[in-house]
Amino acid sequence: METSEFMKTAMVGGLACQRNSFLFDGFRTMVVFCEPKKDKKGKTEGYDIELQDTILFPEGGGQPSDSGLLRIVQRNGDSSAINKNIQVPHISRSGLHAKHHVKEPIEPGTTVEIAVDAVKRMDYMQQHTGQHLLSAILERKYQLETVSWSMGGLITEKKSTLEPNDYFNYIEINRKLTEDQITEISDEINQFITKSPQEVTVVERISDGTDGIDTSKIPEDYDLSKGILRTIQIGDIDSNPCCGTHLKSTSQIGSILILPNQTTVRGSNSRVYFMCGKRVADYAKSANKTLSNSKNLLSCSESQVPEKIERQGKQLQQLNKREHYWINKLAHIASEGLKSSLKASEKKRAYFMEEEFGTLELSLQIFKEISTVLKEDFEAYEIILCGYERQCNTGSLLILSESGEKISSLASKLGSMLQNLKGGGGKKGGKWQGKITSVSNAELAALTGYLSHDFIAH
Ligand SMILES: [Zn+2]
Repeated sequence: METSEFMKTAMVGGLACQRNSFLFDGFRTMVVFCEPKKDKKGKTEGYDIELQDTILFPEGGGQPSDSGLLRIVQRNGDSSAINKNIQVPHISRSGLHAKHHVKEPIEPGTTVEIAVDAVKRMDYMQQHTGQHLLSAILERKYQLETVSWSMGGLITEKKSTLEPNDYFNYIEINRKLTEDQITEISDEINQFITKSPQEVTVVERISDGTDGIDTSKIPEDYDLSKGILRTIQIGDIDSNPCCGTHLKSTSQIGSILILPNQTTVRGSNSRVYFMCGKRVADYAKSANKTLSNSKNLLSCSESQVPEKIERQGKQLQQLNKREHYWINKLAHIASEGLKSSLKASEKKRAYFMEEEFGTLELSLQIFKEISTVLKEDFEAYEIILCGYERQCNTGSLLILSESGEKISSLASKLGSMLQNLKGGGGKKGGKWQGKITSVSNAELAALTGYLSHDFIAH
């Protein structure tokens, strides 16, 4: 679908959103092109719409695409308001053109009113303008050039949910900053937010390539000979070519948080993490929630949280050591008991069962203790080691025998009693190891009944 030849579209570089980034709603324009978008199998999966002009920014300059909606106002001379809203989740740049991706077609010639997702745009502008200011100060104060930057807080195919820390943006520079330098930079930016705000302006010009402006970061598919070169200026602090949308004043950055902790990348380069505007308050809220929960769980004051966690970690280590010690002790006693039982048993059958805190570690330790003795002292034997942990209703079962056949028959006997028994091994004799989950009281009673009847307790 296409309208008459004379209907031209504004090119990227001179879009309404680039000329005035505070137009959020009520901007009227006309649909010029509407083309179906095909997937790999040739099926239409949506439509690309081009408008005469737009206040929806296509991605570029490190700033992600806007989202918003198109309200259909008038269709081809029909003056009755249609009042239909069509969502625009994404806008992309193709050369000098802004393409609005939508799910349903809109006939060229239709008048539409655009509304931008203003909360998202304000957030992007605060991060983006904050980045310009941070880069400018790093350059001016420490002669540190921004190697690259990345905006945080974006949901991607790889990352569908975000943690509070994912909302940090970063700037990559060629060395690490000290904690004092981070404080100095933060103070200086706060001055530009509060005491001496700087005006942010954009200069548009047609580039003739002789004006000495660094155009190396302008995408290759953006034809500068036909397009517009945009330079963003922050007072007399900074001047940089950029196509994104910006705040009008550094005061609108609102607040900035720069972390002293940096990441070292590519040898000695450093990533400096920061966030601006409303994100700072949101981050503070979520950090406070985590801290409050931790404080309550640990029954201590906020500043004592790390110390308390460290102390509990040490206690846990000590408890693990202690448990290990007692397991070894108990395993020795249990294996002695099993030996006596085997000697006293005509059928050469014995079992060990712990129903309260029977861990797999205990069963394996008993196995370790007894396995050498079994080979040396007994020609035939059948041993069942059962560890059950009441609190989590799970357990382990080991079947030990010199015969694979005996193991297999015992495993099927136990399997007939316990619905959720899974295990394997010991096909040629030795050890069969299994796990039981969701054991019912009846199953547990059947198991203990069987063991105490058919096997002699030590
Ligand atoms: Zn910019």
